[in-house]
Amino acid sequence: MSFRIAIAKCQIILTLVKAETGDTVAAQRVAVIGAGIGGLVAALRLAHAGLDVTVLERAAAPGGKMRSVPADGAQVEAGPTVFTMRWVFEEIFSECGADLSDRVELRPASILARHAWGADQRLDLFADPEASAAAIRAFAGPREEDGYRRFRARAAEVYGTLEGPFIRGERPSPVDLGRRVGLSGLGGLLRIQPFTTLWGALGEYFRDPRLRQLFGRYATYCGSSPFEAPATLMLVAHVESQGVWHVEGGLSRLAAIIADLAEERGARIRYRAEVAAIAVETGRGVVGVDLADGERIAADLVVANADAAALGAGLFGSRAARAVEAVPPNARSLSAVTLCAKARSSGFPLVRHTVFFSGDYANEFAELRAGRLPSDPTIYVCAQDRADDDSALDRPERLLCLVNAPALGLERPLAPTEIATCETNLRRKLTECGLTIKATPGTVTTDPAGFERLFPATGGALYGRASHGWMASFKRPGARTALPGLYLAGAASIRGRGADGGAIGADRGGQPAGRSRREGPRFDIPVARDGYVWWYVDALSEDGRQGLTIIAFIGSVFSPYYALDLSRDPFDHCTMNVVLYGERANRFCMTERGRDSLRRDASQIRIGPSGLAWDGTTLTITLDEVTAPIPSRVRGTIRLRPNGFTRDTFTLDADGRHRWWPMAPSSPVEVTLDAPSLSWRGTAYFDTNHGDTALGRDFSDWTWCRADLKDGSAILYDVRRRDGSLQNLSLRFAADGARRDIRPPLPAALPPTRFWRMPRATRSDDGASSVVRTFEDTPFYARSLLASTLDGEPVRPVHESLSLDRFRNPLVQFMLPFRMPRRAG
Ligand SMILES: Cc1cc2nc3c(=O)[nH]c(=O)nc-3n(C[C@H](O)[C@H](O)[C@H](O)COP(=O)(O)OP(=O)(O)OC[C@H]3O[C@@H](n4cnc5c(N)ncnc54)[C@H](O)[C@@H]3O)c2cc1C
Repeated sequence: MSFRIAIAKCQIILTLVKAETGDTVAAQRVAVIGAGIGGLVAALRLAHAGLDVTVLERAAAPGGKMRSVPADGAQVEAGPTVFTMRWVFEEIFSECGADLSDRVELRPASILARHAWGADQRLDLFADPEASAAAIRAFAGPREEDGYRRFRARAAEVYGTLEGPFIRGERPSPVDLGRRVGLSGLGGLLRIQPFTTLWGALGEYFRDPRLRQLFGRYATYCGSSPFEAPATLMLVAHVESQGVWHVEGGLSRLAAIIADLAEERGARIRYRAEVAAIAVETGRGVVGVDLADGERIAADLVVANADAAALGAGLFGSRAARAVEAVPPNARSLSAVTLCAKARSSGFPLVRHTVFFSGDYANEFAELRAGRLPSDPTIYVCAQDRADDDSALDRPERLLCLVNAPALGLERPLAPTEIATCETNLRRKLTECGLTIKATPGTVTTDPAGFERLFPATGGALYGRASHGWMASFKRPGARTALPGLYLAGAASIRGRGADGGAIGADRGGQPAGRSRREGPRFDIPVARDGYVWWYVDALSEDGRQGLTIIAFIGSVFSPYYALDLSRDPFDHCTMNVVLYGERANRFCMTERGRDSLRRDASQIRIGPSGLAWDGTTLTITLDEVTAPIPSRVRGTIRLRPNGFTRDTFTLDADGRHRWWPMAPSSPVEVTLDAPSLSWRGTAYFDTNHGDTALGRDFSDWTWCRADLKDGSAILYDVRRRDGSLQNLSLRFAADGARRDIRPPLPAALPPTRFWRMPRATRSDDGASSVVRTFEDTPFYARSLLASTLDGEPVRPVHESLSLDRFRNPLVQFMLPFRMPRRAG
């Protein structure tokens, strides 16, 4: 279950990469760390999209945890064995121009699994739900059959509610989740019992503890305890009921055919190539990976399929470590002790998947919680040479036996005596159920320390973070990281995170944020509910005596109406903010309009009577606005001709919810207004910000400034986030948009504004700067012209300070409508 979802989510990476690299997507060099199933699918899709992909895998073969081991001359599957959600793989193959069924044989299972509680207590679940219902009736009576029917219906409902996010979602927070489903959807969300444990919820359907145990075991499909995992995991029951298939050659074969297809589509896969560090350059993000043997593989993008815990633990360097959250040992999912063997079995009719249950499930998980191997373990046996046929075999068969184990890996390796006791308990339990296993020499035992050696820094956890508590899904990192160019692909990073993330994926598919985007702005990008996008231009006349700012907003971030709008519909809050500053004109317009006033396509946007249009060489802004609170007209045309576009988009918060692309930092501009009558030439700056949620949620304040230099321009952006962290971007761009990072200049104090006492601060080479003029002085925002030195030159930066704390002040909120009227059309 977990890996299928991880794979589905790997598809998001391509969407994100396309969004962030724009037209030059095909020119991107990608290094994928790890050829686990997540890395392989990411590599396949990226290679198929034309990117230059190199996969670096420390092991000798593809598959990661989907591996097989040699035992007595046979290859025994040593990883996951249950194959569901076949359509996920079919879609991937078909998108990449191949057919899954041409490459691997899949046979549907009619018995999903056999369950045993002793020699004479057995229950089979079948692909046919009516057959399962009948078996449950025969095993535990009509009341339990009825409970099973109700449970199945509820599991389907849970799956239906969470399908989008589990399969396609990127990383919604609980708040996003609530917002996205809206009031009508909240009922559905609550009905799926996110706050109840799976074990607790199962009590509503089954009185027979064995059935509770059987369906509670679904929590272990993602390495969690049914006593701590949310009831939402009952969706696994629905997934299984949609079909289980036997994969000819096992799931390691599936990994191998994906590796083959990725290579056919142009990816290079290098085995025994261990990545020692992700190479990062300040201000640029990732630039490649360094192998353990010292070789540098240059890359524009890095996809890490290695466990997110390994990144968080610093195995790939401190910059990569800061890009993800560390996984504390108590948040890890379960590990296992596995035995892979060729063995003769007798006394019990094994099918492909058989589970032998412990006598006391609560005690078993309490022991695991306490860091011990269970004294009476539940045992899963995969008889890999069988399908539904349970007849006796007169030859040794390939078996995988698995018991759950605490993920304490190399921190507290299990002593040989503990492993020996585990094997004894396992044999005793199987014998109690009538099964005798006689292994031929060459059994391969893997314990949590062994898994940690294979998958470093995981503690041996096989499924990333445990899904314990209703918040667990939201804590997994998404595919995007805080480090530009670094993405995560894998079950430990991207899996089951709530609801309706599909909307996020779709929204981001067309966002403007993009490296190497040279064709200019796109005005048709999607905007998430609660989100925003704005296009910003400021310009100064050659003589420095006239200036203007124009911001076209969808989801006007400073709108009091948007703040109060329960539907959080950004399209219903559009505005064209125009401010003129100059010796002959000081005017402010910010009339908000509803969705009917918005017209847009890729090359133009109109909000009411004003608009921006891009024809490939020139940005033309036509204005026809009215000032407030005292009405006067602002009408005319502004033409801006960028020399080139910059490559990089920057994320302003750790989760990538707010993105900024300084598209064209310095361009010639012509301003021709007939109201007020004014015309001048100068230089202009053009950028765009795009976010998925309100600014005030993630930021306390920021200061920003941009200055023209003799050859290009400089931009300084200092952001203070709500969590107290700070981010400085100090950038220099040549006239054609090429970027060079500069050392952050020294902090320089500035006086607060005169009327509203808005704090201002900036940076300069010598830590000194002065205010030449204050263009705008509002309770939460100030715009000024400064005099300072940057990168060795005397400059006149245009500067803004924004306080989102002040913006939240009720008095400010009360005053805003006077400056920002709202019109119906
Ligand atoms: C015994 C067992 C049973 C399981 N049962 C189930 C099940 O029933 N259902 C289910 O859904 N899931 C199950 N799982 C879990 C499932 O296998 C994993 O969730 C999934 O395969 C993980 O895939 P991945 O691509 O995210 O990561 P991995 O498979 O861990 O791949 C990561 C890859 O990165 C490589 N790597 C790590 N560090 C480096 C480095 N520095 N340089 C280069 N390469 C590196 C590793 O070698 C590995 O190949 C089981 C796992 C095991 C072991």
